[in-house]
Amino acid sequence: MPETPIRDLPDLQAPPAGVAAPKSASSAPWDTQPYSTKRHGTSITNCDAEPVRTPGCIQAHGALLVLRLSDLSILQASENTQAILGHEPRELLGHSVAAVVKNEGETRQRSILATEPTDRNPIYAFTLPASEQIAALDVTLHTIVGAAMLEFEGTGRTQPGAETGPVAPRPRNGPDYYSLIKKTVARLQTTETGQTLCQLLAEEVRLLSGLDRVMIYKFHADHHGEVFAESCRSDLAPWLGLHYPAGDIPQQARDLLAKISIRPVPDINGELAEMMPLVNPDTGNPVDMTFCALRGLSVMHTEYLQNMGVAAGLTLPLCRDNVLWGLIACHHYSGPYHMPYELRAACEFLAQMGSLQLRAVEERENAAYRLRLDAVNQQLLSVVVREGGLASMIDGNSLLLGAMRAGGAALFHRDRWWRVGKTPDESQLVALGQWLVGRLDTGALASPLYATHSLAAAYPAGAAFADVASGVLATPLSSSGQTLMMWFRPEVIQTVNWGGNPHDKPQVAGPHGLRLTTRRSFELFSESVHQQATPWLDVEVEAAANLRALIMDLVIARAERIDALNDDLARSNEELDAFAYVASHDLKEPLRGIHKYAHQLMEAAPVNGEEKRKLDGLMRLTLRMDSLLDSLMHFSRVGREELALEIVDLDEVLADALELIGSRTGDSGTEIVAPRVLPSIVCDSVRVREVLVNLLSNAIKYNDKAFKRVEVGYVGADETSLRGAFPAGTQTQTVYYVRDNGIGIAPHHFDQVFKMFKRLHGREDYGGGTGAGLTIVRKLVERHRGQVWLESAAGEGSTFFFTLGSSDDN
Ligand code: ADP
Repeated sequence: MPETPIRDLPDLQAPPAGVAAPKSASSAPWDTQPYSTKRHGTSITNCDAEPVRTPGCIQAHGALLVLRLSDLSILQASENTQAILGHEPRELLGHSVAAVVKNEGETRQRSILATEPTDRNPIYAFTLPASEQIAALDVTLHTIVGAAMLEFEGTGRTQPGAETGPVAPRPRNGPDYYSLIKKTVARLQTTETGQTLCQLLAEEVRLLSGLDRVMIYKFHADHHGEVFAESCRSDLAPWLGLHYPAGDIPQQARDLLAKISIRPVPDINGELAEMMPLVNPDTGNPVDMTFCALRGLSVMHTEYLQNMGVAAGLTLPLCRDNVLWGLIACHHYSGPYHMPYELRAACEFLAQMGSLQLRAVEERENAAYRLRLDAVNQQLLSVVVREGGLASMIDGNSLLLGAMRAGGAALFHRDRWWRVGKTPDESQLVALGQWLVGRLDTGALASPLYATHSLAAAYPAGAAFADVASGVLATPLSSSGQTLMMWFRPEVIQTVNWGGNPHDKPQVAGPHGLRLTTRRSFELFSESVHQQATPWLDVEVEAAANLRALIMDLVIARAERIDALNDDLARSNEELDAFAYVASHDLKEPLRGIHKYAHQLMEAAPVNGEEKRKLDGLMRLTLRMDSLLDSLMHFSRVGREELALEIVDLDEVLADALELIGSRTGDSGTEIVAPRVLPSIVCDSVRVREVLVNLLSNAIKYNDKAFKRVEVGYVGADETSLRGAFPAGTQTQTVYYVRDNGIGIAPHHFDQVFKMFKRLHGREDYGGGTGAGLTIVRKLVERHRGQVWLESAAGEGSTFFFTLGSSDDN
């Protein structure tokens, strides 16, 4: 050994200089001094408080050196280095690692550090050959926050001195793990289902390792675990199908398992060796042993396994998409069990293959189902397109239920619920819908979805209809969230077999007061689970998201098409109005010429009876054409000019209209009544006056009764008894009317009268007219976003109704 002076060890009772004492109010002893499981383990009061990543100890069958990365000098050493490496820790601290691994070892280590991805990734470095004092040792190396971690474990080729227990059996010249694994991997790749894959994995790992029990332990969504597959010694009771509460592998243990790829524990009851010193003198922090195979056992975990009668264990995490899916949990009961590095590496490799294959098998299992769900989505979409509405998708359509394996479905659309199959009743749906909307933030998520298989747990009111809807999958089908789709699954009462009573959390009196311990009994404990449905598979949730995307695309495409049509319509209307105006304006000029020449002809030369009659006819026709052109020009102007909207007293507008009619028709001998004062509303008074003038003059004109009567009035939105069969969209509107006791209109002419230049009578009958009046009335009313319609009985009279403003305005 070189004679380099040994650095002073920091005092364990006080943190080294520069290390602030933790500020926690807790009285745990390691709050004021570095933690060591060996020294402070019994003070742990619950699993979550245990510093599992920094236990300050290692399993004593191996040795750990913590090296400064920059010069590979030894900063910390496990207290058992004398037994394993042949040097006391005090002889090693501050020295170069070459003191243990020789110059070749140091060189090899430097080369690995320079070329391999050692960060948080233990890599086999070399085997230290056996010497007089020590057995052959496998050396692994990884780095973590500025330190290199060098772990030494017996190779199994020569039994390390005082080591306990047997080592895993090896064929004479060392097993050919590569060939063994190759065969296993080929077999894993042929498995069709997750279940057969896991079963094969359990069997192969047991065959390879020789351990007593190998379980594939699968985590459920609530983190409790289930023995999903198992291979065990024939004399052991099988644990297949047993469930274990989430607390058995607490959150921080699951977090740790998600990071590492292997956790060997060759001797549960083995000694722990403390690190010397307990904290890294460079950083002042306890050493992070997350990735050390030798990491000291957690107090709780040791106790748990001891209660189960386990003597040695090996845990290999199984991850899917970097999320912990489950574990290959291996137990050995007959005594300590040391597995050499390459055997562990082979098991680790199988676990990695298993993780990958798990994903592949699941993908394969899902692919066919996904295709079927996609096909159903397409069918649903074509129903929606063909029938022209979302409700058609659900209305009596069992497509929606079959593929999703749902018992019922409901759609909230156009202010009502549509249901199919077994669903909660309407009032329950209303409340559930409101609760769900709060959970489906439609703005923030690309595809907002809510899926649960135990609704009552999140929504207590759901207990009332758990029999039909313990499972709910919901997604809005519109961006506004006004359309909500839900699938329901009924309650499936199940018996869960627990490995021990999951509600049992015993406490024992320890040196620091009461402390929680792990369960002692693992006897079968059966429990019925209520208010739970079969969970939704990822593919089913995806299918709901896809349906949403398809419907949204459809709705958006439709809205875009309607927008485009509206634009086209508005453009062609404008063009038509402009054309009508230009045409009528330009036609008037030659018409005036024709009229003038006909007049001159009549004046200039004596014409006989026949010629005079023809010239009279020509002049009459030109005058009529002139008034038709006037009507056309007026109509086109009505379509183009802006409305002058203001608050208008309709009673005053009516008075103006009557005055105009009176001056035009003189004494028409008609009684015109307005039973109640008309209201004030926002409108264009000049245009509304024109509407009234047209309707009033028609009411007077088309009347052959000796006593002519015209009534102008309105029906309020709340006067439901008076509203009769008013058209859709006018429910919340005030409806104005002009009623007469005139000649009436036959029902088959109701639409005709609103057409341009359409008259139901001879040209000169009933005082003549161009047939444009009602067309202009309709245009004016529509420009006020209202509707006009009529009721009439031939010979008895007509009532023309109109509204001003669409129902959205109110
Ligand atoms: P015009 O009165 O110039 O003919 P309108 O467009 O105002 O044009 O009316 C179209 C046709 O509808 C009229 O020719 C008439 O036959 C019929 N009509 C309109 N109002 C009434 C009414 N109150 N009673 C009966 N028929 C009517």
